[in-house]
Amino acid sequence: MSADEVAPAKPALLPLAGLLRSVQTPEFAGITFHEVTAKSVLNRVPPTSSMPFSWTINPFRGCSHACVYCFARKTHSYLDLDTGLDFDAQLVVKVNAAEVLARELRRPSWAREHVALGTNTDPYQRAEGRYRLMPGIISALADSGTPFSILTKGTLLARDLPLLKAAAQSVTVGMGISLALVDPVLAEAIEPGTPAPKARLALISRLREAGLPCGVMAMPILPWLTDGDESLDRLFGELAAAGATGVSAGPLHLRPGSREWFMQWLAAHHPHLVGKYEGLYRGGSYASKEYRDWLSGRIRVFRKKHGLTAGAGFFRNLSPDGQQAPATLPAAAAPVQASLF
Ligand code: SF4
Repeated sequence: MSADEVAPAKPALLPLAGLLRSVQTPEFAGITFHEVTAKSVLNRVPPTSSMPFSWTINPFRGCSHACVYCFARKTHSYLDLDTGLDFDAQLVVKVNAAEVLARELRRPSWAREHVALGTNTDPYQRAEGRYRLMPGIISALADSGTPFSILTKGTLLARDLPLLKAAAQSVTVGMGISLALVDPVLAEAIEPGTPAPKARLALISRLREAGLPCGVMAMPILPWLTDGDESLDRLFGELAAAGATGVSAGPLHLRPGSREWFMQWLAAHHPHLVGKYEGLYRGGSYASKEYRDWLSGRIRVFRKKHGLTAGAGFFRNLSPDGQQAPATLPAAAAPVQASLF
């Protein structure tokens, strides 16, 4: 244990496979890292899934970006941790991810299918600054000739721009930034651990200046909070000005695990909306069809106004047989993603 680390107050709560140690450090107040050795890091997407990729990698479980609406919260319950604060602060780190990946990619059976990062938790959350797992992962993928994509809210990605540029010389690299609201006050309240919207807009510009395409995942659009014409106009306008190459946008989904956490937040911050949300989501995880159709129409209007193409595009041209994969995540992508760790 290095000098800046202290043992957690209590031992790790969970019977976690491959657990090496659990540590806290003053740099990451309130967060516990559970460092594990993984046996495998390439996760196969179930063949029945409609996702436009077959493999994912998630070097972390849990995410200190702490987005209240995060659909991946449910996955923390599989570790006997809660889907609220524990998801934000009890982080599992696969410290040997790059080595294990390089070994998996050397298998003769590896068909160099597209690998997606950032489908469940964010690979450039703050912990990446401490563990530096992504440079080894990017190199392993590029060296093996494997196309890949990264979806993130983390501006830490800028650290790896030279590596990503180099990787893009040998394999197809898809980059996506997640940004669905540009109001800094709302962002601070609902995505408290993420870099501010302005910083993410600047990251989009840096990616474009580096010669990389950059799609944007503008999800979730929040009913009555960010779905008004003024909000959508501002969002799409700022994304276009930053140089986004395409935008995929859609409404909030409220799956079990995130629903309870989100509704608690809504009651504290916007109590007058609780009844409206309960009505809109009375059918389950999705907003009513009428709402989804209405929002799609408004999104089309403002995307067109600002000259943006539909679909974040970072999965394009990546299917192994050379056929173009769908440019957008399917409508039901989020809940499917929640199982991809
Ligand atoms: S950045 Fe993504 S994975 Fe992390 S909390 Fe937010 S929505 Fe979840």
